[in-house]
Amino acid sequence: MSATPASKTRVTALPGDGIGPEVFEATRRIFEAANAPIEWEMAEAGAAVFKKGIASGAPRETLDSIAKNRLALKGPLETPVGYGEKSANVTLRKHFELYANIRPVRELPGIRTPFTGRGIDMVIVRENVEDVYAGIEHMQTPDVAQCLKLMTRPGCERIIRAAFGLAIAEDRKKVTCATKANIMKLTEGMMKRVFEQVGPDYPDIARDHIIIDNCAHQLVIAPEQFDVIVTSNMNGDIISDLAAGLVGGLGIAPSANLGDHAAIFEAVHGSAPQIAGKGLANPTALLSAAIMMLRHIGAFETAATIEQALFITLAEGQNLTGDLSPRGHGVGTDKFVGQVIANLGRASNQPSRDYHPLSLTPWPNLTAHTEPKTRELLGVDVFIESDLSAAELGASLAQLAEGSALTLDSISNRGVQVWPSTGGQTFLVDHFDCRFMLKEPAQGNGPQGISDLVKAIGQEHSWMHVEKLQRFDGKDAFERPQGEA
Ligand code: NAP
Repeated sequence: MSATPASKTRVTALPGDGIGPEVFEATRRIFEAANAPIEWEMAEAGAAVFKKGIASGAPRETLDSIAKNRLALKGPLETPVGYGEKSANVTLRKHFELYANIRPVRELPGIRTPFTGRGIDMVIVRENVEDVYAGIEHMQTPDVAQCLKLMTRPGCERIIRAAFGLAIAEDRKKVTCATKANIMKLTEGMMKRVFEQVGPDYPDIARDHIIIDNCAHQLVIAPEQFDVIVTSNMNGDIISDLAAGLVGGLGIAPSANLGDHAAIFEAVHGSAPQIAGKGLANPTALLSAAIMMLRHIGAFETAATIEQALFITLAEGQNLTGDLSPRGHGVGTDKFVGQVIANLGRASNQPSRDYHPLSLTPWPNLTAHTEPKTRELLGVDVFIESDLSAAELGASLAQLAEGSALTLDSISNRGVQVWPSTGGQTFLVDHFDCRFMLKEPAQGNGPQGISDLVKAIGQEHSWMHVEKLQRFDGKDAFERPQGEA
């Protein structure tokens, strides 16, 4: 973090698109009135940048500014149709490896919902750069699309440690790991296993695991049971929006994107084009994100002063924006900001939490690699595009494998075994996973026999990819299709 001579911290300001400039200006005014120790360095990202022909949505000067300041406050960014394929938000997240998305969900005074009074006060810690969001997608055949769900051990470990670190910093009691480990045993299962390995390093924090679909159910049935929830990217995206809905919606939800090298704070909502430029936007979400940013730099007192002024404004219900008021009683952004500023120095009935600095475990700057003690090659899955029946394809492939180092073991279609037949009624698409096992498992990376077999298959069928079936340290490193014994 770079401090200016007057001991102010310099922050890259990205007002963004739509209502972004209005909610940023509102936050800036409240910060100025509270004497917050921040100096803004203005920068651009989003629609205007795409329109200049910069396909990433974030120009080099903006990336340099964030790299130098290591801190940014960002308004919503649009991806205008026809100007770029990429989201500027994702560009920023990935460029700075902002792996920890922190989304606090707390009942706010004065905001009435069906859940008011239940004591909802939790933080969703969402892995922010891996999982299906790695964006590795391929059409396998004209009818079959595939998205790779990549999860890594270091990725799981650092987000889980961030969740425990946050529990300590905020004096929270429990971390719940929410996964789909019952179905995706290798990817989601990895997050559960790493959670079980890492958890004992934090003996003062209780921990439990929950299946993600039950987590969604429990969030509605008994949301007050949750304290910190750590989860993978897609799961976190969905349950954090659900959780925000319990306390008043996306319009008031803040979020932080943290990494080892930078932190970007933002509102969860988008650019709300319908109300942009009308002076009607509610700045609560971006202001709350900016309060999180103050805590991130250790300015706990200023953070609490501004948070208390916001709480009391919401609790007293005077001069609230239209989204928080009965129809016809809302005021504009300006008036709301004036009310928050007038309330600076007052304390609300809802205390601010007792926060301590959150420190992330820094990760070494090397290519992460674990060499197993033993590595065996057991076989290979060859993915084939074909309009044959399973029986015809099985007969052809079994014959092609004759005399090779492998035998045809099974064929599955969308994860269900269809050869040898199990008697099921699977609807077939032209995408078959054909599993060949080595007659003799091989140590290390295995024999030439595999490329010979793939070459022979390629002369009669169209294959689109090949996956090795390995065993690391005596454990199979692949899943079996449904129906396989
Ligand atoms: P949205 O911008 O969040 O707006 C949905 C509706 O929520 C608005 O029309 C408005 O409702 C209400 N709303 C949101 N924020 C508000 C605020 N601060 N004050 C008052 N009302 C607010 O969602 P969207 O329409 O789906 O997305 C619009 C654009 O934003 C898209 O281009 C999307 O890609 C982008 N986006 C960016 C981010 C980001 O930068 N992190 C996140 C989400 C979406 P009423 O119409 O009822 O007033």
